[in-house]
Amino acid sequence: MTPPLTVDEYCQRILAAVRPLPPRSVPLSEAFGCVLVERVEAPFDFPPFASSAMDGFAVRAEDVASASKEAPVRLAIVAEALMGKPAGVRVGKGEAIVVPTGAVMPEGADSVVPIEDCIRRGDQVLVTAPAPKDSHVRSTGEDLNAGEMVIEPGRPLSAADLGALAAAGAAQVTVVPRARVGILSTGDELVRPAGALGAGQIYDSNAFMLAGQVREAGAEPVDLGPLPDDPDVLVSALDAAHNEVDAFVCSGGVSAGENDPVKRAFASGGEICCVDVAIQPGRPHAFGIRRGKPFFGLPGNPLAAFVGFEVFVRPGLRRMMSLDEHRPAVAATLDGDVGAHPANLRFVPARLRREAGTLIATPQAGRRSNLIAGLARADALVEVPPGSALTAGMACRVRVLRGVSGNQVFTGA
Ligand code: AMP
Ligand code: MG
Repeated sequence: MTPPLTVDEYCQRILAAVRPLPPRSVPLSEAFGCVLVERVEAPFDFPPFASSAMDGFAVRAEDVASASKEAPVRLAIVAEALMGKPAGVRVGKGEAIVVPTGAVMPEGADSVVPIEDCIRRGDQVLVTAPAPKDSHVRSTGEDLNAGEMVIEPGRPLSAADLGALAAAGAAQVTVVPRARVGILSTGDELVRPAGALGAGQIYDSNAFMLAGQVREAGAEPVDLGPLPDDPDVLVSALDAAHNEVDAFVCSGGVSAGENDPVKRAFASGGEICCVDVAIQPGRPHAFGIRRGKPFFGLPGNPLAAFVGFEVFVRPGLRRMMSLDEHRPAVAATLDGDVGAHPANLRFVPARLRREAGTLIATPQAGRRSNLIAGLARADALVEVPPGSALTAGMACRVRVLRGVSGNQVFTGA
C-alpha cells in the first residue's frame, strides 16, 4: 500500500496543477477583491475643476484683505453657484458669489470666505475676516494629473481603490475574475434543509457551509444541488455545469465504500485521483483537472469537509484568482489538552481570546469529524503535529478563521 501524502505534499500538488484564470474586463461594480492586471491612468486632471472647499462666498482676496469683526467688508452678492451648476457669472471688484462645498469656483474669484466669517444681509454680505488668495479653494489636478497612475496593478482591489477608479471614470477594469465554483454534495441520505426528515435522512449541511467558505475565499458559489450516490449522475452533473463554472467542490463519496460515487466515477484513473492524505479529520480526498477545470473532492463528514476546504481547496481557489493564501497562521497558547494522531496532522476547532496580549486557544468539545456544532463556535483551527499531544499551557499554531471579539487585535481574513 502506498503511504499517504502529507498535508504539505497534497497542497503542493494542488497548487502546482491550478492556474490563474485568464484576465477579463468586468464592470467596476463587480471588481471588488479581484486582482487588477492593467495600469489604470487618470484620463484627466483630478479634480477636474477648481472648487470651493467650504460652504461660503467666492471673493477676490484683495477685496477682503482688511476685513475684521470690527470693520467688516461689505460685498454685493451677484449670483449663487449650485452643485453641478456653475454660477456662470464673474466675480468683479466688491462682489461675491454664494458657493457650497464642491461648487465650481467662479471666474474672477481667487478665495472663499467660509460662512462662519460672513453675515448675510439680503443681497449683501459682511465679511468679518480676511481670506488670503487660494483660501478654501481646491485646485484642478490636486489629487492626480492626467496620465498619472490611479491604481498599481497586481493587487486585489479594495473599497478605496474602487472609489479612486470610479472618480477617474473607469467603468470597466481588467482583472483576474472571481472563480465561479460549482458546489455538489453526494449522498442518498441527503435532503435540502426544509420540512421533516425521513428515516435515515439528514440535511445537506455541507453545501451551505462550503458556499460560505467559497465566498470567504473571495470566489462565487454556484449551487449544483445534492446528488444521489450514482457515479453516472455525478459525471452528468459535472458535464452539464461545465461551462457555467471554473471549478468544482464536491463533498462525500470519496471513501472506499461500495457506493461512493466519486471513487467509482474516477476509479479507473484519468483526470481525477482519489488520494489518502495524512490529515485528521478526513483522510480520503480527490483532486484533478477535469476537462480543464479543477475538481476538489472532500470527505462528507462536515468537520472533515470544512478542514479539507480550508487546507486544500481555499489555497487552490485563491491561486486561480491570483490571490495570496491569507488566513493568518499565528502562535497561541492552549488552555485545554488535545491528543495527537500518530501519523496525521490534526486540525482541532478552537475558540480564541486575548489575555494580557497573549492569544489563548480553547479546543472545542465534539471533535469527531461528523460533529459541526463545536466547529460553528470556533474561531480557529489548532494544528496538532503527528505524534505530539499538546497539553494546556503549551504553545501551538492556529489558523485563524475569524476575528476574535472583544480586545480584538486582528480581523479574520
Ligand atoms: P461520505 O464521505 O459520503 O462517506 O460521508 C461521510 C458522512 O458524512 C456520512 O455520515 C454522511 O451522511 C455525511 N455527509 C455526507 N455528505 C454530507 C452533507 N452534504 N451534509 C451533511 N453530512 C454529510
Ligand atoms: Mg456518502
